[in-house]
Amino acid sequence: MRQQLFFSPTMREIPQGADIPSHQLMLRAGLVRQTASGIYSYLPLGKKVLRNVEEIIREEMDNAGAQELLMPAIQPTELWEESGRLNNYGPELMRLKDRHERDFVLGPTHEEVITSLVRDNVNSYKKLPMNLYQIQTKYRDERRPRFGVLRSREFMMKDAYSFDTDKEGLDKNYQAMFNAYTNIFSRCCLDFRAVKADAGAIGGKGGTHEFMVLSDVGEDTIAYSGASDYAANVEIADLPDMYEKAEAPKETMEDIHTPNMRTIEELTQGLQINSDRLLKSLLFLVDDKPILVVCRGDHEINEIKVSNAFEAEDVRLAEDKEVFDIMGVETGFIGPVNVPEEVTVVCDFAVKSVVSGVCGANKKDKHYQNVHPERDFSVTSYGDFRLVQEGDPSPDGKGTIQFAKGIEVGHVFKLGTKYSEALGAVYLDENGRSQPMIMGCYGIGVSRTIAAIVEQHHDDNGLIWPKSIAPFDVHVLVLNTKQEEQVNLGESLYESLKKAGYNVLIDDRKERAGVKFKDADLLGLPIRVTCGKRAAEGIVEVKTRRDGNMEEVHVDELDSYLT
Ligand code: ATP
Ligand code: MG
Ligand code: MG
Ligand code: MG
Repeated sequence: MRQQLFFSPTMREIPQGADIPSHQLMLRAGLVRQTASGIYSYLPLGKKVLRNVEEIIREEMDNAGAQELLMPAIQPTELWEESGRLNNYGPELMRLKDRHERDFVLGPTHEEVITSLVRDNVNSYKKLPMNLYQIQTKYRDERRPRFGVLRSREFMMKDAYSFDTDKEGLDKNYQAMFNAYTNIFSRCCLDFRAVKADAGAIGGKGGTHEFMVLSDVGEDTIAYSGASDYAANVEIADLPDMYEKAEAPKETMEDIHTPNMRTIEELTQGLQINSDRLLKSLLFLVDDKPILVVCRGDHEINEIKVSNAFEAEDVRLAEDKEVFDIMGVETGFIGPVNVPEEVTVVCDFAVKSVVSGVCGANKKDKHYQNVHPERDFSVTSYGDFRLVQEGDPSPDGKGTIQFAKGIEVGHVFKLGTKYSEALGAVYLDENGRSQPMIMGCYGIGVSRTIAAIVEQHHDDNGLIWPKSIAPFDVHVLVLNTKQEEQVNLGESLYESLKKAGYNVLIDDRKERAGVKFKDADLLGLPIRVTCGKRAAEGIVEVKTRRDGNMEEVHVDELDSYLT
């Protein structure tokens, strides 16, 4: 590619409103431009990078036995009614109507579409297991799109969905995806950790891990042990400023915020807290009376304590569709609550699903929908409600807990039969019995991954692309385009390198040397080859962007620098 005609507008100054290095550099180096809030165009450089990441993902997914397909971005709303997610998903769901007033959504994820697709086309155990994936544009009307492509409203995702006949099959698929993700993010040269996570709005009762890139700009906090593999998302611990300052979304906050609403801190004041176990706790009302359910165990509900006068059977679990999904935050309630004294709180990180309620928690149409703890009400400090702290013993008994900030680049879930049951994706087993398929889903934020790579690979002068991701392999600079020797050497190098299979960018612009050097650093291609004063002797200067190492070498000896 010739830089003279290359559509890669660069900027010297830090663009306004870009607060973090990846956002600044992706704009400055001409990878992306904002078209509307949270909606970006990828310029040729950005598109090349996107393609490189996609190719790594494809290779690893295909290797793991997954099959690529492509589903529509536009999805009929009926599918979301069928799955029961239409009202639960919240204002992130972008909706539209066609000319016949039929309702559609712009897909934020594809569980509904894939489940109906498989339902209609697979009906025997003989066709299972199966793992299907796509790389496609997703839409989420984020409350606060920010940080460029790190949190945008239109973004590229790789999403995969597995279908199995039994739990062992799901475990196997999950592990295969876990391994594929580990390979993918390693090949992207990312420093990351797989952490235990909260199932959030997607639901599902099995395991779930997030792949977190360690970075100060990350919006998640990870608690991990320095001495073992233990790592978990702290979820709502230590909410960052943005949540406190955030404006309440219309329709949700005002409805919800009653004067008597309590924070977790208030609710749990004076209660004995024990931080040695993970738990989920849910706070809700049944017929006006508050109940705090504390679920011990490692993200599995295996023990439930119900406070006050109610019997345990008053609290029905997610299987009972009429009530609510106790595992998720899908159905939330907020209201005036007094916690009775006899409540025991077995505290810990995953308090995200603390859900409180208005009257009639198990009555239909009595719920505030889509309540998200961070979004709709804030839990900013815990007082006596002590979260795990740095230095606490790790839950696995190995080492102590440390904290780090992370960017969620990938997420793997064991969904179980949540969607297959709702949408009727069943198969006939060996005995001719109808069974729901057991599903998993696996997402990677492709565009977010690029921003994460930039966060970990840059310096004050610009980008430093890992070879596997770089939009070009080599940057040839013709320092002075008025000097025939320099032009000739640059041109012949350009041709021979291309012939040797390299992707080459040649700076053939009529710019000053200083401008060219600055732009080359900003673009951050792995190797820069400068044709300058000694061009007549066939001598070029080779610079390795990562370590800044510079050497003068004869063009005949270039090979060893490029591989
Ligand atoms: P987050 O917690 O950051 O909002 P999420 O948990 O809602 O992400 P998932 O539903 O798990 O996201 O989607 C799979 C992946 O898609 C995420 O791990 C992330 O890498 C990416 N992703 C999600 N939302 C965005 C967004 N707004 N912009 C860019 N990438 C995103
Ligand atoms: Mg999200
Ligand atoms: Mg998340
Ligand atoms: Mg997630």
